[in-house]
Amino acid sequence: MIKQRIGKIINEAVKNFFRKPATISLAKDKIQIVKNYRGKLVYDPANCTGCGMCVRNCPAAAITIVNEGTKEERKMKATLNVGHCIFCCQCVDSCPKKCLSYSQNIDLASFNKEELKMQL
Ligand code: SF4
Ligand code: SF4
Repeated sequence: MIKQRIGKIINEAVKNFFRKPATISLAKDKIQIVKNYRGKLVYDPANCTGCGMCVRNCPAAAITIVNEGTKEERKMKATLNVGHCIFCCQCVDSCPKKCLSYSQNIDLASFNKEELKMQL
């Protein structure tokens, strides 16, 4: 019984040794991203009223919107912590002005936690 199992394991190991890897190298291989894939958020401040709906509805507290200008002359800035974002689309759906959308940018990994907080 044990011999049979060991035989199966060895068989499987030998088969897998000659198989192509199931994973791809992000650095080397070009990957096809499907339409509507949720990559890094994109923010268009042009119509942003600073209502804060996106911030309030974010379940991961990943997005912040601040007005760095004045009440009369707004200068809206959005910051996203991609380490927290779960790409749920809630902020995109919540925005009454359609200021948020998704890009196909998936190159978001970093060894530095601070770099995960990015301006949109
Ligand atoms: S996609 Fe979801 S988790 Fe990410 S910022 Fe928007 S609401 Fe928050
Ligand atoms: S929900 Fe839209 S309009 Fe409101 S603060 Fe967020 S991005 Fe701006």
